[in-house]
Amino acid sequence: MKDLCGRQVDYLRISITDLCNYRCQYCMPPDGVQKGPHGAVLTPEEYAEIARAAVSLGVKKLRLTGGEPLVRRGLLDICRLLRAIPGVEELCLTTNGSLLPDLAAPLRQAGVDRLNVSLDTLRPDRFAAMTRRGELGDVLRGLEAAEAAGFDRLKLNCVLIGGFNDDEVGNFLALTREKPWEVRFIELMPMGPCAHWESSRFLSCDTILDRFPQLEPLPSQGVARRYQLPGAAGTVGLISPLSHEFCAQCRRIRLTADGHLKGCLHSAEELPLRGLHGDALVDALRQGILQKPAGHHLDRRPSDTPRDMNQIGG
Ligand code: SAM
Ligand code: SF4
Repeated sequence: MKDLCGRQVDYLRISITDLCNYRCQYCMPPDGVQKGPHGAVLTPEEYAEIARAAVSLGVKKLRLTGGEPLVRRGLLDICRLLRAIPGVEELCLTTNGSLLPDLAAPLRQAGVDRLNVSLDTLRPDRFAAMTRRGELGDVLRGLEAAEAAGFDRLKLNCVLIGGFNDDEVGNFLALTREKPWEVRFIELMPMGPCAHWESSRFLSCDTILDRFPQLEPLPSQGVARRYQLPGAAGTVGLISPLSHEFCAQCRRIRLTADGHLKGCLHSAEELPLRGLHGDALVDALRQGILQKPAGHHLDRRPSDTPRDMNQIGG
């Protein structure tokens, strides 16, 4: 269905845990988050019930996220239940990739169609510093495992951070020469731990176009402006929520791990869905879609959401 701004909402992102095995500096506090009481997050059946209601209103694409979705107990059950819902055309998942060596093949068998793997640096020392506990080799092995399991249209998410990885853009672009992947650069958004980082950390994706004029434009896809190096196997995506606000094209709604519907990543408004069933659940979702905020205010102030990114899912 359409929201009050005329946007066709057909994409539901579902966070299935706030927990993560990494502590990326811009996303999580150094000590991580407290594990909630048993039952604080929705059960696989509750996610499926909400997804079914969303599909009845026109949602076609689902994405699992977190926290780190691969640390969630019952992950494969959740995938199987969601993929089996009639009307779901695509089940995607965003992961830090570290647990893919063991889980890529089971995820494929459980019905996941596409994977986005987050990777902000190709240097082991920087990787360890940014994630505060990760090893780059795990993610590289995870990417191999994903390819071997048949995930052939991988997307790599790289958050562009001034003074951290802006000198690695060329190395990321080089990956697309051989690999049929989409390397996506994402502008750092001021929220949670990075809400008040100094302005030099926040780079516009346009700096990439200035530095690499050989990038040739392709038709855009969703919220990404797309490009390609001449003759490359893969593509490049620029996701610019700050410098090229895309709220008018936003077709997504979000479900937090504890069952709250968010119409916008950056809004404080949430609708509790837990405990609602049947028509009451569909009505609440309809209301949530209608009330989807027209846009964010990141040009004037940091994100309004009281949640950190690991509690919403990016
Ligand atoms: N743990 C998984 C991962 O890292 O892919 C899924 C959850 S993570 C919150 C989803 C995405 O949000 C990641 O690509 C991460 O880099 C991105 N992200 C987190 N905080 C961000 C911020 N402040 N600005 C832009 N992207 C952010
Ligand atoms: Fe974990 Fe992903 Fe946040 Fe990094 S970005 S701390 S991997 S949830």
